[in-house]
Amino acid sequence: MLKHLFTYILTSSFVFLLSSTAIAKSISIAVLAPYGEAYTYKAWQPTIDYLQQRIPEHQFKLLAIEPSKVERLKKMVADQKIDFGIVQPVTFAELHLENNATAILSMVGTSKSSTFGSVIFSRHDSNITSINHIKNKTIAGATPKGLGGWLIGYNTISKHNKNLVNIKTVRFLGVQDNIVNSVLNNSIDVGIVRTGTLERMVSEGKIQLSDFNIINQQYILDFPHLLSTDLYPEWPMVKAKHVSKSISKKITSTMLNMKSGSKEALSGNYWEWITPLDYHPVHDLMKRLDVGNYKDHENHVAHLIKDNPVTSIIALFSILIVFISSFWIIRLNKKLTKVNFFIAQQNDMILNSVSEGIYGVDLNGDCTFINQSLTNILGWSESDLIGNHAHEIMHHTHIDGTPHKSKECPVYATFQDGIQKYIDEDMFWKKDGGGVYVEYSTNPIKDKFGKILGSVVVFRNITEQRKNDDYMQKVERSSRLNVMGEMITEIAHELNQPLTTITTNSSAVSNMIKSDNNKNSNQYLDVISIISAQAEHAANIIRHLREISKKDQGEYMNANLNHSIQNSIILLDSMLKKHKVQLELDLSTNLPDVKIQPVQIDQVIINLCKNAIESMLDVKKNKRVLRIESFFDDANVSLSIIDTGTGIDNEIQLFDVFSTKKKDGMGVGLSISRSIVERHGGNLYLNKTSSSGSQFMFTIPIES
Ligand code: ADP
Repeated sequence: MLKHLFTYILTSSFVFLLSSTAIAKSISIAVLAPYGEAYTYKAWQPTIDYLQQRIPEHQFKLLAIEPSKVERLKKMVADQKIDFGIVQPVTFAELHLENNATAILSMVGTSKSSTFGSVIFSRHDSNITSINHIKNKTIAGATPKGLGGWLIGYNTISKHNKNLVNIKTVRFLGVQDNIVNSVLNNSIDVGIVRTGTLERMVSEGKIQLSDFNIINQQYILDFPHLLSTDLYPEWPMVKAKHVSKSISKKITSTMLNMKSGSKEALSGNYWEWITPLDYHPVHDLMKRLDVGNYKDHENHVAHLIKDNPVTSIIALFSILIVFISSFWIIRLNKKLTKVNFFIAQQNDMILNSVSEGIYGVDLNGDCTFINQSLTNILGWSESDLIGNHAHEIMHHTHIDGTPHKSKECPVYATFQDGIQKYIDEDMFWKKDGGGVYVEYSTNPIKDKFGKILGSVVVFRNITEQRKNDDYMQKVERSSRLNVMGEMITEIAHELNQPLTTITTNSSAVSNMIKSDNNKNSNQYLDVISIISAQAEHAANIIRHLREISKKDQGEYMNANLNHSIQNSIILLDSMLKKHKVQLELDLSTNLPDVKIQPVQIDQVIINLCKNAIESMLDVKKNKRVLRIESFFDDANVSLSIIDTGTGIDNEIQLFDVFSTKKKDGMGVGLSISRSIVERHGGNLYLNKTSSSGSQFMFTIPIES
């Protein structure tokens, strides 16, 4: 029991001891001492006592440090031997840069101003009255890093003209009063002191203001001192990085609570403390004038290079490589951007230069791009289509007016099955509601891995072509009717002959039968066979007329071109006779069959022969010969139609539609004939022509 009690007492005492040590942690506050350490200890001790009374749990210690020992101060902050500092703003800027110290308060001077600047002055009897007069004059400040006593004033002069201050003529005299005295006793031309210095010395009876010219004097409302420059924030109270927030908070609030103009304050030569001001302007000033850390920074780099040459060279080399690569990448990037732009432009140009309409759809069927021709043909613009269902907008209805479902659309099928498709006739719908006949191909769009991304559609407006096709069909029909009309006129006359023969012979035979009681039966049979032959001839003519007048083009079948020649001659017979044209046939006896539409080929032969007959109308009757030849080789069966006409005018575009030399000609025969032959896989051409005749030939392939 006793043992336990002893242990308890021992432990408690140890804990108490530990905690009281923690509570009694000493806090050292350094104050910069431009007027000497002794003066500063005396002036600032009341402030330290003030803190001690209000924060008794800590032990406060004052440390006065002359400006010349500021490096020592910085080191002590770094070594955590100083917790707080009351320093001039340049020292604070350096502490901030080196040790991350922060301002917790800003001082308000006894003149109740929280800012200060410099006074630039000369002796009253000198002719230096403006900044420009400072050139080549001796000039004095307190210290190179003194803010009011040098930097602010120097900055103002150098901003005016940086050649005015010659560094060789600058003197640093430490205590501000020395500067004033030096100007007064003419050993220095120009002085720079902190604002308030002249007024203080006047109040101390040391000088009179009339002893001096104030150079570049500034008037700022509520600023109580003579001034030649901009204003900067007063001294801050600074907290070292290592100090805890709670201590810092306590001190801040205690100092803020200090009564304005209290005896502690006046002793320290200040009025009160306020929340910290913005010290960036001080940093800017130091940067501009290459002061302190902003200068040391460069020196630091120089030292680093000197101490570690190899590492530094490697580092520099790496920086150089990074720099060059960045430069190269930026250039490459620029080039690529240019190339991309160029490609995009080219693509646009290509897309927009083709007369075919083009559009793309994604896997939802939404339009991804269109070209200018699409807009020209259909009237839809990018804003109508991009991102919208292309099918629903322009492909929704078939030519016959029935709805065209998107699931039946070949464009959709293409991005589903990945197979290219060609549609020879379909209808796309215009913005104005009209339909456009189109032929189109649709291809899958794939990425480089073959994944399908959508379809692209290339279409052509075939409305005109269809109109032409319709028209040509009409022309072809009318030409056929025309040929038929002419034939019928000729043939009507021609049919008369067999019909008259039939009629005459029929009545003759019937009379013979009536009067002759079957005695001359052989004679009857002869007459009847004449009748039958003539009737068959007439029937043939009529049958061919019927065939040729049929609307449809007829089926393809294996047929012999000699047969076609024979058929055509039946219809041409009357024309040949009428114009006294002699017909010569030289037909190959073993001509192979070819696959043809017989009615169509008959029409070609009739057209060529009709032209041939008409070409001979100006030739003497006994010189009019139409020769038709048929022959073949391995590949083709060929027909040749030769006349002894006047030849072909070489001005005429023979195979063009509507080119004719005839008074009532249509100029379509040859072009229709050529298209029929070409449909059969063959060729129709003028083989030769001269003033004594022409030869047209056409071929039909044997395996067509
Ligand atoms: P059309 O007979 O209605 O004029 P075609 O196309 O059949 O139309 O012929 C065009 C023109 O070619 C004819 O008007 C004629 O001048 C010329 N032509 C065609 N065949 C011959 C031919 N065998 N001899 C001379 N001229 C011809």
